Amino acid sequence: MHNVRGMINLLGEETTDREETTVATAEYVEILKELQTSGIQSCISVKPTQLGLAIDKSLFKENLDRILSSARSLGNFVWMDMEGSPFTADTVDSYLEFRKRYDNVGIAIQAYLRRSQEDVSRILESGGAIRLCKGAYKENPSIVYKRKKEIDENFSRLMRMMFERGRGFAVGTHDEKLIEEATRLSNVHHADFEFQMLMGIRDKKKLELVERGYRVSEYIPFGKSWWAYSVRRIREHKSNIFLLARSLISG
Ligand SMILES: Cc1cc2nc3c(=O)[nH]c(=O)nc-3n(C[C@H](O)[C@H](O)[C@H](O)COP(=O)(O)OP(=O)(O)OC[C@H]3O[C@@H](n4cnc5c(N)ncnc54)[C@H](O)[C@@H]3O)c2cc1C
Repeated sequence: MHNVRGMINLLGEETTDREETTVATAEYVEILKELQTSGIQSCISVKPTQLGLAIDKSLFKENLDRILSSARSLGNFVWMDMEGSPFTADTVDSYLEFRKRYDNVGIAIQAYLRRSQEDVSRILESGGAIRLCKGAYKENPSIVYKRKKEIDENFSRLMRMMFERGRGFAVGTHDEKLIEEATRLSNVHHADFEFQMLMGIRDKKKLELVERGYRVSEYIPFGKSWWAYSVRRIREHKSNIFLLARSLISG
């Protein structure tokens, strides 16, 4: 696909083995080098628990530091995915800490979480880059907006904050209404931002946005640990069972 950039995610999460986190870190460093050599326009997107956040915070920070410094020396960028709520506070706090030393790092924020407005504010204040998405995990109703309408309203609210005060941010959704709202906001604020979508979903829309002059990246998961990822996608959208079946059949 022309001019749609990549964002590579090595599948794997909630790792409980220290050694595995080191292996994942080394693989990301290899991927960054490969991207540099091949000239492919792609950054990477990492899951904190894949790098050890569920085991030991300092292990996670050591691994993330290795990836960020390697990405910086290669002129690349690293997004931190946001996982389930047990990890939100640590992920945001670590992001703000790393942001002081690195400007090649961004963080995903979930519009379904009630705390996100506060997080978006803190991150914008630090000059950080946010990827706004709706959120994909099963959460306790007390901490999230449950109804689609409420989640979408919060997405709009947070997106406006990003257009007014942010830079280098990403609008991570396939939702037609929110995508078009972002294009209208961009006419007013002329912000530096991009659209981000998942690989294999709304491919025509990606090309249409590129043709209209917007930057678009797609999230490309790869590797062996595809089960948790596939379950989240199927929960969002039943037709993904067919996508999954197709990818299993075609290898
Ligand atoms: C680039 C990117 C990165 C992400 N990173 C994170 C993250 O770090 N943490 C996190 O919790 N979540 C992440 N997500 C997932 C996100 O939170 C949502 O669960 C997911 O994007 C579906 O929400 P939506 O905004 O597309 O809107 P929805 O309201 O779910 O969908 C709107 C419309 O988009 C289409 N659509 C949406 N999803 C699908 C699908 N899976 N298959 C086919 N069509 C679909 C349908 O037409 C649907 O009607 C990410 C999503 C993207 C695009």
